Amino acid sequence: MWKFPEHYDVIVVGAGHAGCEAAHAAARMGARTLLLTMSLDTVAKMSCNPAIGGTAKGHIVREIDALGGIMGKVADETGIQFRMLNASKGPAVRSPRAQADKFAYQMAMKHRLEQVPNLFLKQGTIEAILVEDGRFVGVATLEGIAYYGTTAVVSSGTFMRGMVHIGETQYEGGRAGDKPSVGLSKCLEELGFNLGRLKTGTPPRVNKRSIDFSKTEAQPGDEGVRFSYDEPDRPGLPQVPCHITYTSIATKEIILENLHRSPMYSGKIRGRGPRYCPSIEDKVVRFADKERHQIFLEPEGLGTEEIYVNGISSSLPFDVQFKMIRTLAGLENAEIMRPAYAIEYDYVKSGQLSCALETKLIEGLFLAGQINGTTGYEEAAGQGIIAGINAALKAAGKPSFTLKRSEAYIGVMIDELTTRELDEPYRMFTSRAEHRLLLRQDNADLRLREYGYSLGMIDQARYEKLMAKKSAIEQGLADLNKKYVSIDGKSISLMQLLCRPETSYSQLLESVRDFGPDINTQIEMCAKFAGYIKRQEVEASKLEKADAIQIPPNFNFADVKGLSNEAREKLNRFSPTSVGQASRISGVSPADISILMVALESRKRSS
Ligand SMILES: Cc1cc2nc3c(=O)[nH]c(=O)nc-3n(C[C@H](O)[C@H](O)[C@H](O)COP(=O)(O)OP(=O)(O)OC[C@H]3O[C@@H](n4cnc5c(N)ncnc54)[C@H](O)[C@@H]3O)c2cc1C
Repeated sequence: MWKFPEHYDVIVVGAGHAGCEAAHAAARMGARTLLLTMSLDTVAKMSCNPAIGGTAKGHIVREIDALGGIMGKVADETGIQFRMLNASKGPAVRSPRAQADKFAYQMAMKHRLEQVPNLFLKQGTIEAILVEDGRFVGVATLEGIAYYGTTAVVSSGTFMRGMVHIGETQYEGGRAGDKPSVGLSKCLEELGFNLGRLKTGTPPRVNKRSIDFSKTEAQPGDEGVRFSYDEPDRPGLPQVPCHITYTSIATKEIILENLHRSPMYSGKIRGRGPRYCPSIEDKVVRFADKERHQIFLEPEGLGTEEIYVNGISSSLPFDVQFKMIRTLAGLENAEIMRPAYAIEYDYVKSGQLSCALETKLIEGLFLAGQINGTTGYEEAAGQGIIAGINAALKAAGKPSFTLKRSEAYIGVMIDELTTRELDEPYRMFTSRAEHRLLLRQDNADLRLREYGYSLGMIDQARYEKLMAKKSAIEQGLADLNKKYVSIDGKSISLMQLLCRPETSYSQLLESVRDFGPDINTQIEMCAKFAGYIKRQEVEASKLEKADAIQIPPNFNFADVKGLSNEAREKLNRFSPTSVGQASRISGVSPADISILMVALESRKRSS
């Protein structure tokens, strides 16, 4: 094994969505960062749907951007259809989504990363993690090179002992067309990590020229939707529509006749899949009364004819897929270019990570993305940015950085990954956040940008722009309270008028200042939802109080008398760092928390 002559602060393994964000963050913070990946041709490859964002996922992308991350900028640059989902619903659940040109996305991400100072991209397959005295020291590659570094982020996605399933056929692969990562999985096991097995699936891709779009419904995008706070006016790619079609009774019949040939039903796949993102076999069985299911036809890019058939992910054999796809309206002559398949892979079970995403077992080793049992590009990138930040902080000997549940969806996600057992791949929903009116997609910069600045990810000019925005919002709100109008003989403030559901800030523009759509929206939100926001802030501060009661590292829960056996076992396994975190572990009751508080108090007094 040849020892590479240079030393890195941070080594990132795997340039998927988590790895790209982790490497970008670490390098932006000044850490000398190496991003090692199996193939430089698949940087930021979208293994499944060619889209970024969506419900709750769009919130995560905006949070990443607010912190100084890269995903939103690349999505804006390469999006071919933007939409604001749930636009007619409340502001908490509105989420941006972009259909991306999959190949342009990969190239744009790679090119941006290549230009970041302190960041070095190299091709290499990691076979082993090198550890000395319980600390990470380096990685060894299949190519016979050992790279040494102070900390590492491993983000190997669906690749660890990946097994692809298409009906009765199965073969080893990290995803279709890629080799699996077997050495890394074995090495983590040998180091003492507890691994589990999960699965996920993807639909077939068909050639556009074989679709009769006249039998489908066109779905255009929305104007003015973007992810990034920094490059709102950057010209994007030409926009194209998606199309909607439906399965039929014939689809259902074909699936039911062949269910026994689906590896999920024959028991060949042991790993659990996401219930909320079911395969078409699952949907037909679980929603037996439904006559048809909606299917979206999504272009994979401007330079390809491939169409992603969203809603029909499957592990049925190819001959069944061939017949099934032709039962969809407009797809009677569809030509499948890539078959649907399911993939089963290893992940690191929960309870083995700190809130900074550092493993408890190996100091300096961080994990992010699918390897932690999540699914989704945005979930992976959200963990990636936090792991990258913390790996850089650790390498510089600085304390770690975490986000609270009341501050960000990323905070909610990491809290849940570190306190809950997963029984299926974890994805984000707006319903997971208890304070979702505080965590809107439109205010991610106001919530998080100052953190990005203090971490060194946001430059002075952007920080000053944020400060100017904050003061404009304050000014706008103050003006609303100062100005009065007479309605039906009664004098009311513009603030009271704006709080009426039928009034919008834009209707008041003759009497108030026009700060531009972004700031005007913030003023309107703050005014209209002031009562709800206040209430959620009070609730959040209660939660924060419990989170502020620290549990010392190496606190022995086994010594606490009176805890239930389940609570003792779970507390030992998850080793929470605060009482708030302990209270969110399933199986730990309020009575256990009272007992724990007494034990912490007596320990404090005796020391
Ligand atoms: C078949 C399939 C279906 C999916 N369906 C969905 C879905 O419906 N919805 C959804 O939200 N998500 C889905 N996903 C998941 C989505 O692709 C992942 O959640 C996301 O890509 C995870 O990001 P990541 O960065 O953790 O890993 P990935 O994007 O998988 O990237 C991992 C990277 O690590 C590299 N790598 C792996 N091992 C090594 C090694 N030993 N050395 C060097 N490099 C290595 C790989 O080459 C790759 O670049 C699906 C994935 C697959 C494969």
